Amino acid sequence: MKSFRPVRNIGILAHVDAGKTTLTERLLFAAGAIRSLGSVDEGTSTTDSLSVERARGISVRAAATGLDWEGVSIRIVDTPGHADFYAEVERSLQVLDGAILVVSAVEGVQLQTLTIWSALREMNIPTLIFVNKLDRTGARPAQLMEEMRRLLSANIVALQTCASVSTKQPSIISARDSVRAKQDVIESLANVDSEVLDRYSRDAEFTWQELDDCIRTHTQAGRAYPVLFGAAMVGVGVQEVLNAVVSYLPAPKGAAENKLSAVVYKIATGGPSGRIAHVRVFEGTIERGHAVQSASTDTAEKVIRVARLSVQGKYESAERLEAGDIGTVAGLQGVKIGDVLGSAYAIPKPPSPLEPMLTARIAPTSPADSNRLFQALRQLEDEDPLLSVEWLDEQKEISTRFFGAVQMEIIREMLASRFNIDVTFSEPRVIYKETPIAIADAHIEYRERGYAIIDVRIEPLPLGSGVEFASEVKAEEIYHKFMKQIPQIVEQSRRKGPRGWEVTDFRFTVFGGHSKYDLGTKPGDFKIVTPLALELALQRSGTRLLEPMMDFVISVPREYGAAIHRDLVKMRAQFSEPTDDEGRLEFRGRVPFAETFTSTATLYASSHGQGVLRTRFGGYAPVEGAYM
Ligand code: GDP
Ligand code: MG
Repeated sequence: MKSFRPVRNIGILAHVDAGKTTLTERLLFAAGAIRSLGSVDEGTSTTDSLSVERARGISVRAAATGLDWEGVSIRIVDTPGHADFYAEVERSLQVLDGAILVVSAVEGVQLQTLTIWSALREMNIPTLIFVNKLDRTGARPAQLMEEMRRLLSANIVALQTCASVSTKQPSIISARDSVRAKQDVIESLANVDSEVLDRYSRDAEFTWQELDDCIRTHTQAGRAYPVLFGAAMVGVGVQEVLNAVVSYLPAPKGAAENKLSAVVYKIATGGPSGRIAHVRVFEGTIERGHAVQSASTDTAEKVIRVARLSVQGKYESAERLEAGDIGTVAGLQGVKIGDVLGSAYAIPKPPSPLEPMLTARIAPTSPADSNRLFQALRQLEDEDPLLSVEWLDEQKEISTRFFGAVQMEIIREMLASRFNIDVTFSEPRVIYKETPIAIADAHIEYRERGYAIIDVRIEPLPLGSGVEFASEVKAEEIYHKFMKQIPQIVEQSRRKGPRGWEVTDFRFTVFGGHSKYDLGTKPGDFKIVTPLALELALQRSGTRLLEPMMDFVISVPREYGAAIHRDLVKMRAQFSEPTDDEGRLEFRGRVPFAETFTSTATLYASSHGQGVLRTRFGGYAPVEGAYM
């Protein structure tokens, strides 16, 4: 089987404004894939295609583009930059064989950089780092290297050194042309490679061929991270990035003959051909005119058309997509983002999922737009599963769930530019959940216009367990046909518990009951008794509120440790004694999401801007003092 294919499927990731779009544009230009340079500042860049992205200068929707460099097709999946679109970053990560992380030489490592970094490491995606904006005043490459060693990984390897920065044309020297820089490369590699360490300690000589092989091996294994410098805006260091992608990042693995394993990472709707699924094929083949099986929905649908993402970043009509390809598939009407085509065996597991933790009411400025707004939101929801929309009948309002406040802002702009609807949001609120405190049961009988009897028991389960179903009834007590519906009915009715929030972490057991056709049991009857039984059992057990938590790591210079300690206590954080690492203290713990919402700024103030905070969704935990 051929292991080498002249293809690289990569993503460019960055904190917003680090220069991801500008770098992408420059890479395309350097390779001749576009004839003129677009600019994010003028709204003419190739990858920022949505008008909202252009207006804001940030990339929201993952698009893909491609170029050819020295006979290698480099396909670039453009990934969104903001934390609020993390779901989409995750999905994009799943399709990548390698990544370029862009860091600004002025702003340095940012919160978002850390989030992306931890996701990349969790998924073990080979990563190159591009230090951008060397032309700007305040560029500090040497300090940044230290910062990255401390905050990202000790195993970063500088392939270049900077001769002059903060000028219009910064100048960069390859480590191949500098004895000192070569020495640095060797020292960095000695951290990850025992043979290099061994030879280094014996003062042995290294050829560049040997070093390159060593960098490639460890980069592809996700153990070492080459660093390149440049200024994308003025085109400095751009060809070197392309060379590094070809030299160090891996080609896709997989073979066309194998069993199909592909993932849908984006859905496009509204075009002339209906639903288009953007897919990455890891193993096997998707062929025009043939059916593909969706593992997620357990249905097979016929592929009407396929197009492969080619050099020059165009989708070219093709007969098939094969292992390693990125492309589009038309004809799969039931398909959703994240769906697996074929089976999941070759698809990398995405990093731990995030849940929307904020809710807000959304209302059109003009009441006549109410229905149109709902339709538009439904379409956006289809494109981004992290957004969820609910029509609140009693209040005649639309409620939406979000991952973060900036997501709201962007949705507002998308509604205005794509759908021409102006909206206002209410103050966002944290989404709580609730869970039963004790075991309780309930008996409900229904005999008026039908016949159904049910006995249920609920039992609390450990945090994070979700909901389990169990049945202790025989088929002659409740017919199988009716029992089968019950989990689905509970899924529906647990959305609103006694306190108004979703109920989770409990077992629902049906331990008795009765159905009988000749007494008049109809399919709808258990839809009446089951929600009533759940409601009664929950009232009897009582529930406690759960709130979303964030796991955090905060690193601050030692002198600010006491102030941070105070802030954390105020924020209701649980944390262990900080560890001390060369003058910096590192606090680790958990904090209620609601507090991070209001207090992140305090942390920054207390550390005089020198604190580094890393957070991740850490599940739900009981709100203290909120027992019934
Ligand atoms: P993204 O949010 O990561 O996609 O970043 P953009 O590519 O949109 O760039 C953000 C801003 O930084 C824009 O105003 C760019 O013109 C500017 N920018 C990007 N690269 C450079 C660079 O190398 N030097 C300077 N001075 N500005 C840059
Ligand atoms: Mg951008």
